[in-house]
Amino acid sequence: MKTQSHKMTVSIDEHTSHLEQLKSFFHQLDEEGITIEKLPRERREQYQLEAINLTLQHVWDHNEFYRSALEQAGFTQPKIDSLEQLSTVPLLKKDVIRGDKMKLLCVEPKEIGQVHLTSGTSGKPIYTSYTLADQYVYDLLPKYLELFPESDSDIAAIALPYEFALPGLGFQRLFQFAFGTAILSLGKGGYMAPVDKSLELMKEYQATVLVTTPSYAALLAEESEKYGIRPGVDIRLRRIVLTGEGCSYTFRERLEKWWGCEVSFFYGSTECGVVAVECKEHKGYHIVEGHVKAEIVDPATGAPLGYGKTGEIVVTTLLREGMPMVRYRSGDIGYLQKSKCACGITMDVLHLRGRMETMLNLDGTDYPPFMLENFLLEIPEVGMWYHFILEQGRLTIEAEPFRTEMSDEGLASKVRAHMLERVGIECSVEIKHGLPRTFGKATRVYIK
Ligand SMILES: [Zn+2]
Repeated sequence: MKTQSHKMTVSIDEHTSHLEQLKSFFHQLDEEGITIEKLPRERREQYQLEAINLTLQHVWDHNEFYRSALEQAGFTQPKIDSLEQLSTVPLLKKDVIRGDKMKLLCVEPKEIGQVHLTSGTSGKPIYTSYTLADQYVYDLLPKYLELFPESDSDIAAIALPYEFALPGLGFQRLFQFAFGTAILSLGKGGYMAPVDKSLELMKEYQATVLVTTPSYAALLAEESEKYGIRPGVDIRLRRIVLTGEGCSYTFRERLEKWWGCEVSFFYGSTECGVVAVECKEHKGYHIVEGHVKAEIVDPATGAPLGYGKTGEIVVTTLLREGMPMVRYRSGDIGYLQKSKCACGITMDVLHLRGRMETMLNLDGTDYPPFMLENFLLEIPEVGMWYHFILEQGRLTIEAEPFRTEMSDEGLASKVRAHMLERVGIECSVEIKHGLPRTFGKATRVYIK
């Protein structure tokens, strides 16, 4: 009689998929003692081309939507001969998959190990399905030892949402299974983890790494003072990894001072997983080219843009069987550069400019909110909670005073003059006391 074995054993140890042949590539790198981060460009591009072709074959064989899109684009077989040819593969728009959990699925529904969905701030959510092998095998194949110096002697506090979306569980798996790091699963102010208890836990276990959003890192720092816990003294972090919202360099500097540690940026999404990570040089994000192929396209025409040209970031996942994303339009803006980074990583560098929908158009010019934030927070008397409100082409800044005796009128005119001098924009400024805090994604831009 056949006894039922544990699902985990079946799906991982005896699992095979179109990605099997890529395992030997990564095992070879292990034997050579090199990570994909530092491979010569040509060798990594060879891997990427192979991974893309395996993915194209997989989606062609197992997904009607992808196959008919490829056929309509003139493909008679799912294959490209060079990475440049990727631009002939159809782009994938969010709207096409929003609210449809089956559209991109490339495995039998019973093979799904985990479902994640986007926060759905704009309408229906986007569902992404991962197999167990996606999560515990393929996602962990590429190593980035330069980008992630964490080890089993670290204690990582993860203050990201664990419900629905990928970030909390994604970082948890990465740190536990790739680095052997102990995890404190804080979440973000949920029922079981109010801020005071989260801070206590970080102090009790002496967390060395905090992974969270920029606004929550600021919230934890300011709340800690209420509970008599001193960041940098009672909690001595080695590093903070920020993700989810993005922020400016001045916001980062303030967090570095407040927490007394290095702060790094991480860029990813629930649909595509990890996309790019900052190295210790802090001069842009390195694309994690073991996991994804990134491109930049003209947001209006979809035409590919070369190095140095700003456009929409398009992502193709290389190591997914459940729901591969092929040329997925992220809705984020940035540009790529070939790496000349002092850290030694040869993977392309991404300069992220923020989300397309939050660009502030003033007198016909698009200003990324991070750029304006960068200048606003140069003023030490302005706090880390603020709003940019764009109404009929006119910008109003709602700002909070920070540890200052300055009058509200004095501070407002200082902000106005500073923004005019630094960015050349006229704006109205309202000084507000006690702007609302959030445990969710901080909304700082309102376009009316
Ligand atoms: Zn670097």
